[in-house]
Amino acid sequence: MEQVSRVIIVGAGIGGLCSALAMAKQGFDVMVCEQTKHLGEVGAGLQISPNAFKVLRELGLESALQPCAFVPQRATMRDFKTGEYYLEIPLAEKTINRYGAPYWHLHRADLHSVLVQACIEAGIELMLGATVTGYKENTEANQVSLFLDDGQELTADLLIGADGIRSKIREQMLGRQKATFMGQVAWRGVIPVSDLNVEIKPDACVWVGPNRHFVSYYLRGGEYVNFVAVEERNDWTSESWREEGDIEALKQSFSGWHPEVTELLSAASSTFLWALNGRDELPTWHQGRVVLLGDACHPMLPFMAQGAAMAIEDAYVLAKCVAGYKMSDALVEYEKIRKPRATKIQKMSKANASLYHMHGGVLGKLKLKALQAASHFVPDVIQSKLDSVYGYDVTKP
Ligand SMILES: Cc1cc2nc3c(=O)[nH]c(=O)nc-3n(C[C@H](O)[C@H](O)[C@H](O)COP(=O)(O)OP(=O)(O)OC[C@H]3O[C@@H](n4cnc5c(N)ncnc54)[C@H](O)[C@@H]3O)c2cc1C
Repeated sequence: MEQVSRVIIVGAGIGGLCSALAMAKQGFDVMVCEQTKHLGEVGAGLQISPNAFKVLRELGLESALQPCAFVPQRATMRDFKTGEYYLEIPLAEKTINRYGAPYWHLHRADLHSVLVQACIEAGIELMLGATVTGYKENTEANQVSLFLDDGQELTADLLIGADGIRSKIREQMLGRQKATFMGQVAWRGVIPVSDLNVEIKPDACVWVGPNRHFVSYYLRGGEYVNFVAVEERNDWTSESWREEGDIEALKQSFSGWHPEVTELLSAASSTFLWALNGRDELPTWHQGRVVLLGDACHPMLPFMAQGAAMAIEDAYVLAKCVAGYKMSDALVEYEKIRKPRATKIQKMSKANASLYHMHGGVLGKLKLKALQAASHFVPDVIQSKLDSVYGYDVTKP
């Protein structure tokens, strides 16, 4: 059981690739199996908070990512109609001073291609068009076999399921259970700044309104603006969790909002629509020589912008545990460190839905006003609420 030399990771998303790099840095022989034939990420942005940034820095990616980054000045929350600020948290230099790392916006495709390049340079084998159908533990040989849909069988000492919310590895480990539709959908898009007729503030901004919210921020040094428009809905019947969205329906849904939102949307020519799904806390994240990370074990609503950050933290901790403990103990230790943290962030993300969507009528508005007052008079109290998220550092022993 104890010896680990060869590691196979299922899934070349952000979690899988970070895991591959972290494992390779610990000296393991690593292979990644990815079902798609062409590597890439969706055309959307990603907020990288200091806790995730510290891992990317440890993995040696900071200088390659720097040219693609945008550094937001503030995190803000604004009223959907009046544009009044409910919350203004300084980022940029303040974040570096407080947490020892910056807050960045990245295009997912940029982060993904930097990760792929780093994996290639580290000698990690990336097997594309490799759809995993299941696995089998071989306790006598102290190995785990992995089966691909073309009939191939691969073996490893450790199998990591980083295969996202519809994880096959999780399904085999814990049984088939559909993800829960969270009653919300998200439209996403990226717009070249040259197409805009409105000036967007250099902030990570959440526009809050009744039963919906809108997020906007710059990407790639200010070349693009990313938007995420979230709406409560109970009618998602499609089997797909992502499909092309109707741009006119999106504009209609946010008509009457502040001109910064409507003008931004008027420049959008296409969008994708996501069903936001979640899962209850899993009973365990590992079994024998098989372990889960990222959305495979803790998908979350994106309302803390922490899903990928949690996958990145998982990747680092798992590699450290496997390098530092006997295998049987390593996976227990990994889950002990990571599960409470990911579960807490899942809950915080869910709680934000109510604030962002002004639930509770007058009470909802009062909560925003209280936040506004706190943001003005006791800004450190607000900031300190984020310390447990952004100030957490998995790279520190
Ligand atoms: C609207 C929205 C906005 C978000 N914004 C942020 C943000 O700002 N910051 C943040 O930190 N997070 C954010 N997130 C969350 C983040 O996108 C996810 O948590 C993260 O991408 C999960 O990464 P992953 O590697 O675990 O899974 P995935 O990205 O889903 O990757 C899984 C990979 O496994 C592959 N795969 C699946 N099944 C198989 C199989 N059987 N065989 C082989 N390969 C397989 C898939 O093709 C895929 O490449 C957001 C999410 C949404 C929906």
